[in-house]
Amino acid sequence: MDKILRINMKTKDVLYEDVSEQYSKLGGRGLIAKILLNEVKPTCDPLGRYNKLIFATGFLTGSLVSSASRISIGAKSPLTGGIKESNAGGITAMRLAQNGVKAVIVEEIPEENNWYYIKISKNSCTLESADEYKGMGTFEFCNEMLKKYPNCAVTCIGSSGERLYGAAAIATMDKENNPNRYSGRGGLGAVMGSKYLKGIVVTDKGSVEISDKEEFSAALKQYSSVVKDAPSSLTYKSLGTASTSRVTNEMNGLPVNNFSGEKFQHLESISGEALYELIESRGGEGKTAHACMPGCIIQCSNVVPDENGKTIVSPLEYETIGLMGSNLGIGNLEIIAKLNAICNDIGIDTIETGAAIGVAMEAGIIEFGDGEGALRLMEEIKEGTVLGRVLGNGVEITGKVFGVRHIPVVNGQAMPAYDPRAIKGMGVTYATSPMGADHTYGAVIKTRKPYAQASRESQILLALYDTLGICMFARGAVGKNYELLVNLINAKNGWNIDSQWLMKIAEDTIRDEHKFNQLAGFTNKNYRMNESFEETEIADIQAVFDVSDEDLDKVLNSFK
Ligand code: SF4
Repeated sequence: MDKILRINMKTKDVLYEDVSEQYSKLGGRGLIAKILLNEVKPTCDPLGRYNKLIFATGFLTGSLVSSASRISIGAKSPLTGGIKESNAGGITAMRLAQNGVKAVIVEEIPEENNWYYIKISKNSCTLESADEYKGMGTFEFCNEMLKKYPNCAVTCIGSSGERLYGAAAIATMDKENNPNRYSGRGGLGAVMGSKYLKGIVVTDKGSVEISDKEEFSAALKQYSSVVKDAPSSLTYKSLGTASTSRVTNEMNGLPVNNFSGEKFQHLESISGEALYELIESRGGEGKTAHACMPGCIIQCSNVVPDENGKTIVSPLEYETIGLMGSNLGIGNLEIIAKLNAICNDIGIDTIETGAAIGVAMEAGIIEFGDGEGALRLMEEIKEGTVLGRVLGNGVEITGKVFGVRHIPVVNGQAMPAYDPRAIKGMGVTYATSPMGADHTYGAVIKTRKPYAQASRESQILLALYDTLGICMFARGAVGKNYELLVNLINAKNGWNIDSQWLMKIAEDTIRDEHKFNQLAGFTNKNYRMNESFEETEIADIQAVFDVSDEDLDKVLNSFK
């Protein structure tokens, strides 16, 4: 039977706990919300002893259902001051499930300044010294772990997390054992660093129990055929998420030169098609249609090679192209890939960092379009210079330090690559999310519905996917065909749930998250759009963010 692992970084106690009834039918983001609400003082210092860092698996993790083994990581966020969950692909979640671990809860901070990693094996868990790995990038640390434990899966931080940067992220190994999959948002890497935890290493492979193999096999066949043939899956497989840039640029929603509202003049150099051409023409280690975890049919990921066919980075995604490309006036995929590669090695969020560099460009630190200058700024972040520390602490601090008022931020967290004046449904999500500006909380790009309604519906749908541990890119294929998911979940776990139950846990998750923030001191007045985006018009389309406070309150009040 699955267990919850509880590790105290102060006492070094390691406990395997039975899963309580309250937690047994929760997973991923829903489980994290419930544990944080039950166990963490909402007013605590996010980098202090009372915060807890939680790693959670989903309902189908480890069963090789396509795109269904994401790892959810959560804590109180140092960026937003509220609850945060950020999930990623890769192999750690499936290894945890294969070793009978439903979730890992990391508590307290050490009294001494020593670094540790958590080693999880088939029947044991130990805290091991990581002092010799302090300062290592994520790739070097993973290589060291692979030398010691050849079959391991690793989730870890780089130097950004060790320095407690507000933009620090947590990396998870992909199926080729590279730490490329990111729980990027909310500064969770800093929470891990505050606990002197360099990594979690799962050393053994295994398999998970399937309650009804025959039913499961039939349900899996049905689910896989729907996912495989869906138009959205085919687009992701060929062009990756970069295909989004053409749509958003057409809407004036792709960020350009610090969210200026202009259209990007070099779109053809950074589009999904351009990225595909670059990868295919260079060959070598380059790859389109790459899967971040075993069993993923959608394969939205890629590997971007240099001129010699050697990997620069994997994956290069829309959000990074938007924030570290067009938002910086950079129309060169090779430079964007290099910026991304540095982020991955030092373990920092590309969205927050791209937004911070964009604000620094607006302040005149370097010019828009200066790719070499942006690479130099990344080196400053890596080296921990004063300027690097400012940028590494995110876009809001960068804006304050340099006196820039047009800061693409909501509730302390940088906006992803959708300008909320042009893509207003996403703006409603930014404003009403208890996690700051976050597209994964309720993605809405084009809609015929009222913006508030479209955002609310998307928030519920994505809470469901995050709680099940399924990739949001499966939603284009599965949509509201909840029976596909119900059949898989029941057959895998021996449960008897229905689609109404699924919707209830999704809404309950959002309620728990808002409750946590409310206890931390948030009121409806905290959930508002950044004023600069209500005042500064996109001239081309004469648009500001103008969804009313009443409409935002309707979304918020529906989750009380
Ligand atoms: S669709 Fe993309 S992000 Fe999602 S699991 Fe597959 S490769 Fe990973």
